[in-house]
Amino acid sequence: MSARARAFLGIVLLVASIALFAIAMFTALSGDWSTSMYMTLASLVLMTASGLLAASSAAAAFVPVRAFEVKTEITCPSCGLREVRSFKKGDYVFKEVGECPRCGKGRYISSIFREEEARKAKPPQEEL
Ligand SMILES: [Zn+2]
Repeated sequence: MSARARAFLGIVLLVASIALFAIAMFTALSGDWSTSMYMTLASLVLMTASGLLAASSAAAAFVPVRAFEVKTEITCPSCGLREVRSFKKGDYVFKEVGECPRCGKGRYISSIFREEEARKAKPPQEEL
C-alpha cells in the first residue's frame, strides 16, 4: 500500500471514528447506555487504527537523500575554452584557476552545478 493510500485510509478511519463517537454520545443521551459504551469502544479502536496508519504512512513517506555529482565549469574569457571537471572543495564562482592551456591567459570558474541525470551518460565536452 502506498504512503498516500495509507494516509487517506487513516483520515477515513479518523472521520468514521469521530462520527461513531458522536452517534455514541447521542445514544447515551437518549438513555441506551450499553449500546453507547460499545460504540465508544469501537470509535476508540478506530482512532487507534487511524493513528497507527498515519504513523506508518509518515515512515513510508521518508525518502533517503540522494547524492548528486557536482560539477565545476572553468571558462577562459579570452578564447572561450570551457572545461568541466568534478567539484573540488574550495571551488567558488569567479575563482581564478591558473592558465588556459590554449592561450595562456587566466581562467576562472564560471559555474558550479549539479549534474543532471540525463546528462550523466554524456558529459558536456570541451568547446574547441
Ligand atoms: Zn584561453
